[in-house]
Amino acid sequence: MSAQQPVPATLIPGDGIGPEITEATLQVLAALGAPFAWDRQIAGAAGVAACGEPLPKACLDSIHRTQLALKGPLETPVGGGYRSVNVQLREEFKLYANLRPARTIIPGGRFDNIDLVLVRENNEGLYMGYEHFIPIDGDPHAVGMSTGINTRQGCRRIVRFAFDYAIRKGRKKVTVVHKANIMKALTGIFLETARQIHADEYKDRIGFEEVIVDACAMKLVMNPWQFDVLVTTNLFGDILSDEIAGLVGGLGMAPGANIGEHAAIFEAVHGSAPDIAGKGIANPIALMLAAAMMLDHIGRADIGNRLRKTIDETLNVDKVRTGDLGGQAGTGEFTAALVKRIQASG
Ligand code: NAD
Repeated sequence: MSAQQPVPATLIPGDGIGPEITEATLQVLAALGAPFAWDRQIAGAAGVAACGEPLPKACLDSIHRTQLALKGPLETPVGGGYRSVNVQLREEFKLYANLRPARTIIPGGRFDNIDLVLVRENNEGLYMGYEHFIPIDGDPHAVGMSTGINTRQGCRRIVRFAFDYAIRKGRKKVTVVHKANIMKALTGIFLETARQIHADEYKDRIGFEEVIVDACAMKLVMNPWQFDVLVTTNLFGDILSDEIAGLVGGLGMAPGANIGEHAAIFEAVHGSAPDIAGKGIANPIALMLAAAMMLDHIGRADIGNRLRKTIDETLNVDKVRTGDLGGQAGTGEFTAALVKRIQASG
């Protein structure tokens, strides 16, 4: 891809702190000369407010066209209301792999030198939404039921993705996280497939180990350095990715990529943070790191690496940090410090 050619991409600023961190990210990308040609769309609560739909057709059409998106967090009503737009997008574009790296950027914290990558299956498991209540004796919610589904094909696809990713990035091993001792079918098929694929296709190319999810959660806080790349099913991946974000300074530092065969959507792991929305204090780093992953994805790792380096130096050399990282800077001030550094480095 030539440096001059604009790359069409959908931009969804999102809800809550979404518009604030998106604006910050756009300023930094512009300073870096990132080649994206943005098509701005709305979804989530902003979609409902503007046109009565959490996932407007124009937004879907745009992603079908560009096959590439940067997305701010989208609000999902708890309990009732519309289905998660994030889950709908992952289904619509078959974004089966959710890649969530966690790397220490600020040294000297409780956990130093963390460099983990979690690969989460994104389309199956307990997030398929096959749920219902059974009413008994006038209580409409007397029984709650949920059906999880993992398919052989889906398991093969995600474990191959994890092994290939680990090899491509020069990693040492992949740990399969499961609960096959209890959910023998639902997560048993995942473990069984991972063992098989490793033995048949990857045996001499990458290390392999297995761990039960509850033990994994404990080991991650006792000795996270024992892990490298983790691959797991949808719900476990959702929970463990927040846990590994906690090892590197919290959700403000955790980016994610949702990758399928025909589209890729990049986002922060965190949500819309309604408690701090509109206050100008949100940490925009997670979305910026997601944008760096997006640059890697389009073959512009040169700009992605420059963005990561700028964030690193602004935090550690200039010591400009937002409140969640113990600093005093607002979103705008932190962004201005990044842009200043980019301009100074030419
Ligand atoms: P959240 O991630 O929005 O917030 C959790 C805590 O972390 C809050 O205290 C918040 O202030 C803080 N936080 C999050 N991001 C921050 C940042 N960038 N800088 C500083 N502090 C930050 O989780 P929640 O409150 O459970 O969810 C709020 C809404 O977001 C819900 O509607 C939920 O469904 C949605 N959500 C969306 C996504 C997504 O779009 N991918 C992911 C998770 C949650």
